[in-house]
Amino acid sequence: MAVIGWIGLGNMGGPMSANLVAAGNEVRGFDLSPAAIEAAAAAGVTTVASIAEAVRGSDVVFTMLPKGVHARAVYLGDDGVIAHADTGTLLIDSSTIDVESAQALHDAASAAGFRFVDAPVSGGMSGASAATLTFMVGGEEGAVRDATEFIRPMARNIIPTGGATTGQPAKICNNLMLFINLAATAEGAVLADRLGLDKQVFWDIASVSSGDSWALRTWYPVAGVVETAASNNDFAPTFTADLANKDINLAISAAKDTGTPLEIGEHVATLFQRLIDSGQGGRDCSLIVGLVDGSLE
Ligand code: NAD
Repeated sequence: MAVIGWIGLGNMGGPMSANLVAAGNEVRGFDLSPAAIEAAAAAGVTTVASIAEAVRGSDVVFTMLPKGVHARAVYLGDDGVIAHADTGTLLIDSSTIDVESAQALHDAASAAGFRFVDAPVSGGMSGASAATLTFMVGGEEGAVRDATEFIRPMARNIIPTGGATTGQPAKICNNLMLFINLAATAEGAVLADRLGLDKQVFWDIASVSSGDSWALRTWYPVAGVVETAASNNDFAPTFTADLANKDINLAISAAKDTGTPLEIGEHVATLFQRLIDSGQGGRDCSLIVGLVDGSLE
């Protein structure tokens, strides 16, 4: 059994930390949201009132936060992880963040005597619940090896990506492909419907044909076909449009830095931006189907 500090108990951090509890660990969790705290407590997390209480005396600390700005605040702030953890505690950031922020966290952790890895994940909220996530782990070899043991109860795949910050580009490029696939799935699904195909029949065909993708199998944007899809739940967020927009813009920014044309990715970013501009940023990103079926402007 390990003592684990966990900061960020949202759509991903909630079910991920619950799997660490189920594996027999003591998890001390903190979040700013009372609803997230309440759900985590119901799943067996020992909820605490500060980062300091979550991290002090822990074997390992995981963070699962929205963006680079949140991760920097949680690690580097006066009341943050680095100020309050013991240097023997291994630090693992599983948030998807920009490479510059990841580098700043690696540098600050190392300057303060900590071992730190960036370990973003793929697999969505359903993968978080089912403990089938893929982790992409960047950092010094020994730290990555030790992190792997703590990550195991949440993962199907744990893939070392190389040195410090290398997990983040893997995640950003993966999500660029995911969101393009999601947009393609939304267009195919709506057109199939307009051509008179039964939604289940079309899904049965596409899921074993060349139109297949993770987005189609997990986030199908038409209700009543795929159990894990937010479309069944009026697009209550499993992955918000705000965070999808953050991720695709991380890819676009990296593409600009490397002179890489992302014509399709840039177009998909405009779809998420339209959702956000119409006040839907807090809903699930698969709601971009509404821009195809006409239910949204
Ligand atoms: P979320 O918004 O549901 O959860 C983030 C949580 O962090 C919230 O509960 C928020 O209150 C908390 N938080 C923010 N600032 C904090 C602070 N200073 N102290 C303590 N808690 C704080 O987001 P999510 O969907 O769980 O995503 C988390 C990260 O994982 C993001 O970087 C996202 O891009 C990435 N991700 C999400 C998915 C997905 O399907 N949702 C999949 C893979 C990766």
